[in-house]
Amino acid sequence: MSIQSNLNTIKESLPEHVTLVAVSKTKPVSDLMQAYEAGQRIFGENKIQEMTDKWEEMPKDIQWHMIGHVQSNKVKFMAPYVSLIHGVDSLKLLQEINKQALKNNRIIDCLLQIYIAEEESKFGLDEDELNELLASSGFKELENIRILGLMGMATFTEDQNQVKKEFTHLKSIFDSLEKNDAYGKGALQCVSTISMGMSGDYQLAIECGSTMVRIGSSIFGGR
Ligand SMILES: *Cc1c(COP(=O)(O)O)cnc(C)c1O
Repeated sequence: MSIQSNLNTIKESLPEHVTLVAVSKTKPVSDLMQAYEAGQRIFGENKIQEMTDKWEEMPKDIQWHMIGHVQSNKVKFMAPYVSLIHGVDSLKLLQEINKQALKNNRIIDCLLQIYIAEEESKFGLDEDELNELLASSGFKELENIRILGLMGMATFTEDQNQVKKEFTHLKSIFDSLEKNDAYGKGALQCVSTISMGMSGDYQLAIECGSTMVRIGSSIFGGR
């Protein structure tokens, strides 16, 4: 199957309110251009250097999403152009993103990554840490970031019940954001996105309330 037909098949299966991020990490620009020519404009990468190289080479109407873990000292390289940072999991990182956004005279959109899996290796905040972050005075001072919502990754398992439980957990944390004191104000005024679901589990993620899916191998083939 070609990249173009993979992409079209997936796009046809997505409800209108679900945004597709084409995860192109490790793939060459020629592959990304096939997706671009098929109409795809949102690409997800997990390494800042690789994303920046591709941004320089490719058409400028692409929205670049950083989906990987971000080191504070590298934020400056993507700050001029990044469209959405999915994996934000600390106040310190938000403060650095805010600082670099200010330097570039822009606002940078972010998702807060929530830890929902049972694996030790996944990054993210738990619910208490999320609420602590949102209540902190440091957070309220940030004027050049906008939190669009939450992101999470389920455990890598065949057990659909487990995955469903984790996605449902993320959705319930998302719903509880609406009850947060800061909701609708400052950096939280545009909360609307739940980024969950990858090639293996995106249909289930959508059933559980996902509004943004990050799909790589089902579009571009294995890595
Ligand atoms: C690689 C990656 C994806 C895409 O995974 P596929 O299984 O290839 O669809 C989604 N989200 C994150 C955070 C990733 O690192």
